[in-house]
Amino acid sequence: MSESSLTCGEALAEACARIDGESPRLDAELLLTEVTGWPPARFRAFPEATLEPGQVVAFRQMVERRCAGEPVAHILGHQGFWTLTLEVTPDTLIPRPDTECLVEAALSLPLPDKARVIDLGTGTGAIALALLSERPDWEVQATDLVPEAVALARRNAEHCGLPLTVTQSHWFAGLAHQHFNLIVSNPPYIEEGDHHLASGDVRYEPDSALVSGSDGLDAIRHLVHKSQYWLTPGGWLVLEHGYNQGEAVRLLFRAGGYSNVETRKDYGGNDRLTLGRWH
Ligand code: GLN
Repeated sequence: MSESSLTCGEALAEACARIDGESPRLDAELLLTEVTGWPPARFRAFPEATLEPGQVVAFRQMVERRCAGEPVAHILGHQGFWTLTLEVTPDTLIPRPDTECLVEAALSLPLPDKARVIDLGTGTGAIALALLSERPDWEVQATDLVPEAVALARRNAEHCGLPLTVTQSHWFAGLAHQHFNLIVSNPPYIEEGDHHLASGDVRYEPDSALVSGSDGLDAIRHLVHKSQYWLTPGGWLVLEHGYNQGEAVRLLFRAGGYSNVETRKDYGGNDRLTLGRWH
């Protein structure tokens, strides 16, 4: 049997031929890294390196789960975001590379050295922890409605060694009143019944992190409206949204009295976030 003598190259080729989706090769490499502890550069340089039988079995089991549709991040239990490795569970959204654009946008704003910042609906804690990793002097808080997400964000903060305060709260509702220089969120923004919900990783993610009313904008409307009471004068609101929501979200910001309203694109060239300043 080939089990005992499978090489990295053969294992990856076998997996790529079976995995559907957007990135079979990357998925297979991430799974093989998990099994072997080797970085993908090593598979590319030494495809002839032989796997142990136990590694072949473990790898094929993971590939099987991936073929059944399970997200790679759920199979691994972790996901890279920004410079961090974050634990991921089915209780939250899986951090997306496009959300790193929101982190970049937030870091580009003119903010005080000791800015007070909050990430609403933090999930894994990804945005809050990325900001804190770049700006250790900022005072960063996060909220999530889901207790399991609050616990997960706290574990990720602990694991990253970053002092994030996480509160269980429905948006602002559970917070003591205070003011922030920056409010960020990647809220749910998909329309109820959107066909995108029927395929890919979103099938395995909670609706509460994805879906927001008939036009997908319920959470964004709420955040644009409420943030005015929680921002310092001159403070910034930065929200992620869908690729087709830029104009609608800019209108909401402007109607809500924000200035410097601007939409920025993600790595795929799609509208992905809008920011504005409260005066
Ligand atoms: N960007 C995610 C997706 O379309 C959705 C994230 C969200 O609703 N906040 O898969």
